[in-house]
Amino acid sequence: MTAIDIGLRDIKSRRPEWAPWLAVVQEILREAADPNWDALVPDRAAMQQSKVPLLAEAKLDLAKSSVTTWLAQLIRIASRSGTTQMSTLKSVPHAKLDAATLFRAALHQDSGQIKETAAGLGADPGAFQAVVALLPVPFLHACNRRWARSMAASWTEGYCPVCGAWPAFAEVRGIERSRYLRCSRCGGEWQAHCLLCPFCGMTDHKELVSLVPENSGSNAMIDACNGCRGYIKTFTTLQGSPPVKVLLDDLDSVELDVAAAEQGYRRPQGAGYSLNINVANNGAPRGYST
Ligand SMILES: [Zn+2]
Ligand SMILES: [Zn+2]
Repeated sequence: MTAIDIGLRDIKSRRPEWAPWLAVVQEILREAADPNWDALVPDRAAMQQSKVPLLAEAKLDLAKSSVTTWLAQLIRIASRSGTTQMSTLKSVPHAKLDAATLFRAALHQDSGQIKETAAGLGADPGAFQAVVALLPVPFLHACNRRWARSMAASWTEGYCPVCGAWPAFAEVRGIERSRYLRCSRCGGEWQAHCLLCPFCGMTDHKELVSLVPENSGSNAMIDACNGCRGYIKTFTTLQGSPPVKVLLDDLDSVELDVAAAEQGYRRPQGAGYSLNINVANNGAPRGYST
């Protein structure tokens, strides 16, 4: 059993009502470890430009990738998962799924476009969006693996240096208490300033508050900003989580999200950086014949 299997089993035992969604997450994490996705990651010779995520202007050709097959597989698993909203995905005609457009929309975190597509396909928009948003996760994990050496060590933006997403949480690591931000899409990590809101750059300590909810465990708290009303969950830990565990850590600390929302704080919607990715699908995808 891998650490991920153990983590999933652990969450399932504590939150049995999540079993349908965890079946989807399990499939995504299994796929994220597949090195075949590395082939879709464009080569990079240049080092990272200041403030620009590595994925920002990428040109992708899905022709030889398994994205179309992977999208169909993900929708099939989600539709069987047992919730009423997810079961509406059963009626989605696979022939009408435009993998390139959905993959691009998901990379750009364009939930509006994904929900619009859902309406046209007769699927529940919320369920379709939740599933399609995770479609590029295996590819993004491959980007994080392959581009590790291109990443700027000096990166201090609030958004992910690989994929431009806002962080899912922060880790305060080791005895030196270094602060790192983590991305639940690509599993990436980058060092951050302690006294700074990652979303709006606020440095005024009077506007930055820390909340420690009851029963959250002694290693977890919420750092919130009264400037932008954003918040970030913060965990004190000896070591950072492995990239494939970031998504699980984020899910498994939902009580902190609930506590933050009760105090009027929210996670920023959409991407931290506006990407401009070109996605083409020139030819038949792998696993399909023309
Ligand atoms: Zn990322
Ligand atoms: Zn802020």
